[in-house]
Amino acid sequence: MLDQVSKGRRPASSVSIFSGKIQCGDCRDWYGPKLWHSKSEKYRRTVLQCNSKFKNKCQTSHFTEEEIEKAFMHTVSQLVFNREQIKEDFEEIKRIAYDTTDLEIERDKLYVELESISKRMEDTISENARVALDQEEYNRHFNEMTDRFNSVKEKYDQLTAWIEDKKSRLLGAEQFVKTLLSEGEIKEFSPMLWHSLLDHAVVARDGKITFVFKNGMEL
Ligand SMILES: [Zn+2]
Repeated sequence: MLDQVSKGRRPASSVSIFSGKIQCGDCRDWYGPKLWHSKSEKYRRTVLQCNSKFKNKCQTSHFTEEEIEKAFMHTVSQLVFNREQIKEDFEEIKRIAYDTTDLEIERDKLYVELESISKRMEDTISENARVALDQEEYNRHFNEMTDRFNSVKEKYDQLTAWIEDKKSRLLGAEQFVKTLLSEGEIKEFSPMLWHSLLDHAVVARDGKITFVFKNGMEL
């Protein structure tokens, strides 16, 4: 979970809406647009393939944008078919799955501890300036406090990232349900649909594309 947060996504290498959204099942890098036969007007076309295809010798296939759009819309039609159920399910799990209360309590405790360590460090520094302390002892004690501070700070940062991640996932899932319900008929592909419904897609070696939607559903 925390790994996922810190790993992040490749910045989009071009303006393609498909950049950074389709993951290679072989090497986990992202798909990006590549221009094929760029010198020939007749055969020139853009395909999407793993950005590390040749570096990692990936066996996952390439797709045209149209193929991705078609596969995506086919899957979306299944979502639309079940949208009332999806909405109900989301309402039911929302409070549990995206709840950050306990994490925030834990984070606040760490914050208090950070403040307390920081205060003790300051006190120790000013004591050392006033009184002739054993410097070896002083340094040892100070280093201990620094280590403690750093280790608590690391946990604090991880929790903060986790909380932010959960919150943004909740926003994404809410947007997902809203989009799914707002349209009467969803038939045409649009970048808006692509962005508001899809978290990312994964391409398997056999060419199968699994779409991971923003409510956590995988189809
Ligand atoms: Zn790959």
